[in-house]
Amino acid sequence: MKVDVSAIMKVAGASVAVNGSVGFDSAGFLGESYTFEEPLAVKGEIYNNGQTLTLDIHVSGSMKTECSRCLKEIRADVDFDIEEFLSRSDTDKEQPEDEDVILFEGHEVELDPIVHDRFLMELSGRYLCSEDCRGLCPVCGHDLNEGDCGCSREQIDPRWQALADILAQQKDE
Ligand SMILES: [Zn+2]
Ligand SMILES: [Zn+2]
Repeated sequence: MKVDVSAIMKVAGASVAVNGSVGFDSAGFLGESYTFEEPLAVKGEIYNNGQTLTLDIHVSGSMKTECSRCLKEIRADVDFDIEEFLSRSDTDKEQPEDEDVILFEGHEVELDPIVHDRFLMELSGRYLCSEDCRGLCPVCGHDLNEGDCGCSREQIDPRWQALADILAQQKDE
């Protein structure tokens, strides 16, 4: 979505409301994939802070991804804030030295790439179907949530085995 900021470019303190949605079908990051059935809702404002513009929005929605342990498809909430400085790239005015400033051209700010980039940064990278998902057997690929497959997966240093046994016992209790 694009936001016209021409009315606030030269007026310190002025703001323009942001209320819409940003849609992308899917995003990929470090081998994980995220699919969106509906656009993400984007709500907030862009205001003139006296020097540049500040983008201050909240992004929310839901997506489908895989449990990073068992690869089961799961639905996860998307919920994060974006606060960034924006500055026009095509003016004579000197650009702020700050690397965190996002440049835009003309009098419209295209939010899609900003939301997309921040979405990827915001990902914890670990979405689980449940906190105690047991994952897949690294030997045969069996989903260990459905029971044990009988493979021998433990390759624990014998010196640690005693400790591992104690931990396993505590977990079973
Ligand atoms: Zn899982
Ligand atoms: Zn197995």
